[in-house]
Amino acid sequence: MFKEPIYITRPLLPNLQNVYNGLHEVWESKWLTNNGPQQFKLEEQLKKYLQVENLSLFNNGTSALLLGIKALNLTGEVITTPFTFPATVQALDWNNLTPVFCDIDPTTLTLNAAKIESLITDKTSAILGVHTFGNPCNVEQIQLIANKYKLKVIYDGAHTFGTTINNQPIGKFGDMTMFSFHATKLFNTVEGGALAFNDESLVEKLNLLKNFGIANPEEVVLSGLNAKLNEVQSVIGIEVLKLVETERRKRHEIKRAYEQNMANTPGINVLTKLELDSSSYQYFVIQIDEEIYGKSRDWLHEELKKYNVFTRKYFYPLCSDFQWYEHLESARKENLPQAQKAVTQVLAMPFYGDLEIESVEKICKVIRNFI
Ligand SMILES: *Cc1c(COP(=O)(O)O)cnc(C)c1O
Repeated sequence: MFKEPIYITRPLLPNLQNVYNGLHEVWESKWLTNNGPQQFKLEEQLKKYLQVENLSLFNNGTSALLLGIKALNLTGEVITTPFTFPATVQALDWNNLTPVFCDIDPTTLTLNAAKIESLITDKTSAILGVHTFGNPCNVEQIQLIANKYKLKVIYDGAHTFGTTINNQPIGKFGDMTMFSFHATKLFNTVEGGALAFNDESLVEKLNLLKNFGIANPEEVVLSGLNAKLNEVQSVIGIEVLKLVETERRKRHEIKRAYEQNMANTPGINVLTKLELDSSSYQYFVIQIDEEIYGKSRDWLHEELKKYNVFTRKYFYPLCSDFQWYEHLESARKENLPQAQKAVTQVLAMPFYGDLEIESVEKICKVIRNFI
């Protein structure tokens, strides 16, 4: 039993004095939002860190995804995964697009690329993949399918800040990648998000979409939203970015401690194959096979609370089980066997830089002793 509760994550908090200095600049400028200097500074730094040419900042990841999808003028149906955070599919809902749920790969828990083609109809306009827990989608195969059928490809990269695939930055794949800067994400601006994209002509359109479609004081040229990142959030982001590499290194040690201490626990499988040179270290997720471990994921989740350890059933429930998708053929349970299985087995473990290795060892021991 831990004296203090152990939560699944702790936000990366910047040095308060540095934040104060940044805020002092904002106060001096009397410029709080709408393309201020802090936002441009953060944007430049993030472009470097993420190694992308084009990056547009937003007030959160969800509105970035929603407006990114709108900028691509998609219609009809979009093939996506049911095993994700609600925001992914809700971004489709708000664009009047119909999700077509595709089952997931049992090892990476991302879209099963081999199942995509059979779901394509004459209404399909895009594929929306999620780099689940930092495991990248099968980007090559997805792009081949997209090229063949002339579909757009969008990625929800909320878990992949700074991830690379074979030394290539993840933001370069597909037409667009969304990043979330929510407090619980590796890099945060309290709330915030971004889109990375290759087509430079989208810069102007995204700028319009996040500012009510206002082109100039005389003209409103399209129907947009208010989705701007402000100067206060940008100051926080500039300071948090300085801490990200150290945080990743700390998480690397924590991941190793988990892996070493869980290696001989039958029925527990580590899902996140994280590597220091390529991963965002966003989550550490295990899968519990009830038949081998002897206890269910739900049981373990509840039992750990008694030890003051708070894990998360992430993702739960499946998006395809949302009541408003009841009528969709692709949402039927029998069409999504791997997703239905994953949603009962996954558990995100406490994972943040300041988590002590000793605590990780204790948590693992508790889990082993339940056998
Ligand atoms: C956090 C998250 C989002 C939402 O991002 P916000 O910045 O909170 O709007 C979307 N998709 C996934 C997979 C996420 O984890």
